[in-house]
Amino acid sequence: MKPRDLSAHVAYEAGRGIEEVARDLGVDPAALTKLASNENPHGTSPAAVEAIQETAPGVSSYPKAAHADLRDALADRWDCDASQVWLANGGDGALDYLARAMLDPGDTVLVPDPGFAYYGMSARYHHGAVETYDLERPDLPLTAETVLADYDGERIVYLTSPHNPTGGTFSPDAIERVADETDDETLVLVDEAYGEYADVDSVRGLLDDRDDVAILRTFSKAYGLAGVRLGYALVPGDWADAYARVNTPFAASELACRAGLAALEDDAHVEKSVATARWAREYMREEIDAPVWPSEGNFVLVDVSGTRGPESARTVADEMQRAGVIIRDCTSFGLPGCVRVTCGTEAGTREAVETLNEVLET
Ligand code: PMP
Repeated sequence: MKPRDLSAHVAYEAGRGIEEVARDLGVDPAALTKLASNENPHGTSPAAVEAIQETAPGVSSYPKAAHADLRDALADRWDCDASQVWLANGGDGALDYLARAMLDPGDTVLVPDPGFAYYGMSARYHHGAVETYDLERPDLPLTAETVLADYDGERIVYLTSPHNPTGGTFSPDAIERVADETDDETLVLVDEAYGEYADVDSVRGLLDDRDDVAILRTFSKAYGLAGVRLGYALVPGDWADAYARVNTPFAASELACRAGLAALEDDAHVEKSVATARWAREYMREEIDAPVWPSEGNFVLVDVSGTRGPESARTVADEMQRAGVIIRDCTSFGLPGCVRVTCGTEAGTREAVETLNEVLET
C-alpha cells in the first residue's frame, strides 16, 4: 500500500540547522554564524526559558483547554475578543487552520511570487488550487495594483507585510484597498510574521469593521521562540465557533503557551531584538558591495547576480558557508540571483558583511 498520489505537493525546504552544517563541514558549531532562517540572534527571552523550565515537570498532563491564558493575554494585547485569537503550532499551523476554515475542494487562492512557499502548500493540502501574483523586481513599496492585476475572485489572497524574501511592505491603505476591491467572499490574509520589525503599523484596526481580513502573527521571530512552534491568526469577530471546528486538539503545547506568555511580557527582549535588526538591515544596505533591497524585516535580500551569472546565489551561499556564515540562497523562492541574509547581532552582522564582500570580490 502507498499514500495517495502526492505528486502535486512539494516538501517544505527548511533551512539546515547549525549542527548539521557543522557536521558536514567538520567544524565546531560555535565557529558558525547562522543567518539563514530569520531567527532571533539574541535568542529566547530569559523569562521564556524560565517558564519552559518551570512547566517541564508538568508535561505529562494535557495543555489547559483552549489555551485560555495565552489567548486572553493576546486578546488584551490586540484589544480584541479571545475568540478572535486562533493559536496554532507556529504561524504555519495558523495558515492551515485558515485554509481549512475557508476552502472547499477546488477553491483557488492567490499567493505572491516570489513569496513564502507554505501559503500554496497549505492551500493544496486543503484541496485548493493556487494562482500567483507577480512582484516585479524590485517592487517596493508593494502596491494594491500589483495584487489586483492578477486577482480573479480567489477565496484567499495572501499579502505578506513585511514581505519575505524582499523585505517590502504594503501600506495599510493598500491593504484596505485590496480588501475593498476584492469580492465579499474573498479573505485577505495579511501575514505580519515580521510585523514587529516594520516601520508600518499592523492592520489590526481593519478587524473592527470588516469581516474579510485576517492577520497572521508569530512568536518565531522577534520573540525568539521559533523552536517551540507558536503562532496565531487574528480573525474577524463573528467567526466564533469556527476555530473549535477546525483546530487540532491542543493546537499549541503547554510549553509553547507558557513560553509565549512569558515572552509576551518581556518587552525589553523584543525591543532589543527589533533595535538590533533595524540597525543591522541599514548597516547591510550601506556596507554590502552589491544591490541590497530596502527591508522592514529582520533580513535583507541581496542581488548577487552581477557577480557570477545565473548560478550566483548558490555559489555565493556555498562559499559563505565554507567561510563560516550560513545564509539563504533564494533560488527556491524563484530568485536565483539573490541571497537573503538575516540580521545578526552586531558582531554577527559585521562578520557577515565582511565575509560576503570578500566572497563577492573573488
Ligand atoms: N510567514 C512568513 C512570511 C514566514 O517567513 C514564516 C517563517 N519562515 C512564517 C509565516 C511562519 O513562521 P512560523 O511557522 O515559524 O510561525
